[in-house]
Amino acid sequence: HQRVFSGMQPTSTLHLGNYLGALTNWVAMQKTHECIYCVVDMHAITVWQDPADLTRAIREVTAAYVAAGVDPKQSIIFNQSQVHQHAELAWVFNCVARLGWLNRMTQFKEKAGKDKENASIGLYAYPSLMAADILLYKATHVPVGEDQKQHLELARDIAQKFNNDFGDQIAARHLGTGNLGFFPQPEPMIQGPAPRVMSLRDGTKKMSKSDPSDYSRINLTDDAETIATKVRKAKTDPEALPSEEKGLEGRPEAENLVGIYAGLNGETKAQVLSQFGGGQFSGFKAALVDLAVAKLAPIAGDMRRLLAEPSHIDAILGEGAERAEAIAAPIMRDVKDIVGFVRR
Ligand code: ATP
Ligand code: MG
Repeated sequence: HQRVFSGMQPTSTLHLGNYLGALTNWVAMQKTHECIYCVVDMHAITVWQDPADLTRAIREVTAAYVAAGVDPKQSIIFNQSQVHQHAELAWVFNCVARLGWLNRMTQFKEKAGKDKENASIGLYAYPSLMAADILLYKATHVPVGEDQKQHLELARDIAQKFNNDFGDQIAARHLGTGNLGFFPQPEPMIQGPAPRVMSLRDGTKKMSKSDPSDYSRINLTDDAETIATKVRKAKTDPEALPSEEKGLEGRPEAENLVGIYAGLNGETKAQVLSQFGGGQFSGFKAALVDLAVAKLAPIAGDMRRLLAEPSHIDAILGEGAERAEAIAAPIMRDVKDIVGFVRR
């Protein structure tokens, strides 16, 4: 049985990286898998969020899921904080994961910056909560962007250590599945059309919601004029576009823009270069603006319509939370028995 789990943080509006790296995969996987898509609001508060902005962003990210094509009738859409078992399992995992494992996480280093002493404990423990999100549903497949690969590996380590540490209890209670133990090893699925979209200002940094510069990213809600300005201002180099993919080596900004075009148009970088190779960036950028507007404007329009009725969005989240909890509650009960807690 294959179950998909994935999530996005309501830290701000979603951008092209979220869309090409994850969301397009999510939509495609609905055809073949049972899918659970979470708005991970508890992850969001690992860095300070203005409460009113957080509320707005939770509804906005939900609207983006639906507008991009996630069907709430079929897939489960909910926000993390409504299903208390996420926090409960995360605590157990905090006691399974080792400090040394978490010390290696590059996202913490990037997000904490120089002032590590002042980072929240939540930001440090983020991967442990993420492991709980996935394993609470015994999810087997996790469609994410490249940047989450390391966290997924940690989730696999946590699952394995839990299975080992409590092997006797799992066996005695017949809670293992075959020789797999209690928790499965979740597989990352890093295979979007553009699994790593980079910043428009710096081709060596990933496009991110929390980048202070709005010119670093294209948001799903940007209008045509904003997209045009951002693409026009996007950093490039003075060379013309190469006609072959290996000509992009050492040119991160050019490679990124070609990758974005390819992702949006459902083709390979080589195909894009066979069309635009040899030409100037200005012509390519104009085509990229047209393509991005054509793909994103309908999503932005649907989001606006959905957000005009917040009660409808809240109903989607509430219904999703009920369905999610129906899966999570018995698994969390088993975890409590395995660990040796006394239940009510
Ligand atoms: P934040 O800066 O707040 O961490 P983010 O832009 O990294 O925001 P997340 O909510 O952390 O977004 O991630 C949601 C999903 O989008 C994850 O699957 C992640 O791997 C994917 N993703 C994020 N940024 C990119 C990117 N630049 N390219 C491809 N996928 C991405
Ligand atoms: Mg992120």
